[in-house]
Amino acid sequence: MMSEVLSDRPTTSRTSALSARPSGPEPVLRVQNLEVTYYTDAGRAKALDDVSFTLSAGEKLGMVGESGSGKSTLALAMMRMIKPPGRIEAGRVIVGDTDLTGLDDDAMRKARLSKIAYIPQGAMNSLNPVMRIGAQMVDAVKSHMNGESRSSIGDRCAHALKSVDLDASVFRMYAHELSGGMKQRVCIAIGILLNPQVIIADEPTSALDVVTQRQVMETIDRVQKEINAAVILIGHDMGLMAQFVDKVAVMYAGRLVEVSTVREMFTDPKHPYARALISSLPNLDNKGVFQGIPGLAPSLLRLPTGCAFHPRCTHAMDICGTTRPEVRMLASGRVVTCHLFNEEA
Ligand code: SF4
Repeated sequence: MMSEVLSDRPTTSRTSALSARPSGPEPVLRVQNLEVTYYTDAGRAKALDDVSFTLSAGEKLGMVGESGSGKSTLALAMMRMIKPPGRIEAGRVIVGDTDLTGLDDDAMRKARLSKIAYIPQGAMNSLNPVMRIGAQMVDAVKSHMNGESRSSIGDRCAHALKSVDLDASVFRMYAHELSGGMKQRVCIAIGILLNPQVIIADEPTSALDVVTQRQVMETIDRVQKEINAAVILIGHDMGLMAQFVDKVAVMYAGRLVEVSTVREMFTDPKHPYARALISSLPNLDNKGVFQGIPGLAPSLLRLPTGCAFHPRCTHAMDICGTTRPEVRMLASGRVVTCHLFNEEA
């Protein structure tokens, strides 16, 4: 079981490479060839470039990469929340049997929370300071489920609070009465109110202390199991993520460059950028030695030709500066976007 990058484009070379992927449970989420471009005064920035992957119910995928690599854009595109000057140029996002990209605005608004929930970065700071937590939860339910009885809504909210390990008294409290971790758990409770099939949590533990980070991650883990949702965790902290996700997807300059199981990613990363990310993690053996990735992430307005990572890559070959690598599935089922693996794919 697990997310596997795939392409539904029948004419591309990588489609045949990926068609041999191992069969697994029917995916609950299919992201196909998603592309997002921002049209700015400074030029055209391709923030998401042909991103495809699938996720089954109950799976957890960690999405990592430097700032600006496209992680949050991917989340927003999946929620159809890209604002001008950004635009979804191509691709589909299918949850269950519903193609979100084909819904009208009203249907999409209803699909948010009921089919796919997004817990944005800094969500806990977006709680309304002058409304009780309960009122905000009730509003969220009412805006998606006309006609649900008052008592049923109350039960739903109470159950969600219980699921995230919050006392029922939180229902009558205001955000300022809660700690950071409690606020984040309220946001998770709102996210699961309608039992979505897919939950996207964007940096859910940023700005929290390490103990609270773990509690929040455990909360996500627990609610995910309870409703059997597919979860995408976006973040920078690979160490924390490694303990909670099944697979890790690495993004660079708007592309998915590697998708592997957590174990594979940490013991044998394939893509040179993924290797650099893993070797830059601190450990006791290299105490005092800070190993970074040379160079800077490229501007999306001026991406290098060929492989966008080639100016920073210690394995770059001639082809890398001229030819864009395709997404390849290796015989092992791992997905890598790098010329080094053209033969192995
Ligand atoms: Fe490095 Fe070339 Fe692979 Fe890009 S395609 S990561 S430059 S080896």
